[in-house]
Amino acid sequence: MTPCYNFSAGPSLLPEPVVQQIREDLPNWNGQGPSIMEISHRSKAFDEVVEESQTLLRELLQLPDNYQILWMQGGASSQFSLVPMNLLKGPDSKAAYLVSGSWSQKAFDTAHYHTQPHLIASGAPDFDRLPPRKLWEVREDVDYLHITSNETIHGIQFHHNVNINDIPLVIDGSSDILCRPLPYDNFGLLYAGAQKNLGPAGVTLVIIRDDLLERSGDRLAPMFNYQNFATKKSLYNTPPVFSWYVCNLVLRWIKAEGGIEAIHRQNQNKAFALYSEIGRDDFYHNPVEIASRSLMNVPFRIHKPELEARFLAEAEAAGFIGLKGHRSVGGLRASLYNAVTPHHVFALVKFMQNFKKQHG
Ligand SMILES: *Cc1c(COP(=O)(O)O)cnc(C)c1O
Repeated sequence: MTPCYNFSAGPSLLPEPVVQQIREDLPNWNGQGPSIMEISHRSKAFDEVVEESQTLLRELLQLPDNYQILWMQGGASSQFSLVPMNLLKGPDSKAAYLVSGSWSQKAFDTAHYHTQPHLIASGAPDFDRLPPRKLWEVREDVDYLHITSNETIHGIQFHHNVNINDIPLVIDGSSDILCRPLPYDNFGLLYAGAQKNLGPAGVTLVIIRDDLLERSGDRLAPMFNYQNFATKKSLYNTPPVFSWYVCNLVLRWIKAEGGIEAIHRQNQNKAFALYSEIGRDDFYHNPVEIASRSLMNVPFRIHKPELEARFLAEAEAAGFIGLKGHRSVGGLRASLYNAVTPHHVFALVKFMQNFKKQHG
């Protein structure tokens, strides 16, 4: 068998021990009875997943008691609407958006269905750095500030806390949740679709501070209401049981790996190895300013673009998959999510060195 090195941007690689565990659990849960997919979400077996995932997330992210954890559906894209629906205080309320790449652009565009969002800065059209803080046009009359902590397509990531006059900070953390200890102090809300760094598609994590939870009130229908999900422990209706269960296995795995600090160190080492190879000379090239580079998604180009198709074909033949850049930007991209091992990254670096030798 050719080895398989999966660098997909999402859905993406799951840790090997997690896949093993799923295989063991699938025919029958705990060696008896039906599998987790075939029992009630209100059963004792599933209740263990509900409780354990809460406890593990709180522990790994060191979440204080004034945050609630919700497991929702509809992907991060639904949160582009649910955030303004729940957090805007009234019909004339405003919200602020920082646009640093395609995903925050989408969040900003979607917000227009609910309010007149205020754009505090945009990195368009190049999206090769975080818009510098001194260029942000901050406004006071907003109910929250939305940022995307990691731009999956452009490979741009926040590495510091953001605090503007205590305006509640809302973070789309879909592609970097659990890649490091949270750099945000006292944030308001963080959401993440599971399928990049947390588990399979189908479940969306929302972490919300208690004072923001009160804003939902009873004006929103139950399925769109954060407060309802908090009160019902995310069991108002049938949750995506299988995805939630796999997320719980991933959380267990992170803990077993030594927790979030250990994962972070490993992510830094992986990213360092790849960025160093890209920056070694001018054969490969990363367009992003150094201070804004992502630990998770590394877009890169080859100085002769006509070599990129060849690179992808040879890479695939050697077992490397998911290296094509997003269709909107082209080029190449390697995603280095938690489950991607240092061994995978060193293999990729070696492949890149050989490719350069042959074509440089
Ligand atoms: C993938 C992604 C999304 C969209 O997620 P869906 O679950 O497909 O809706 C939103 N934001 C970021 C940062 C992403 O990487």
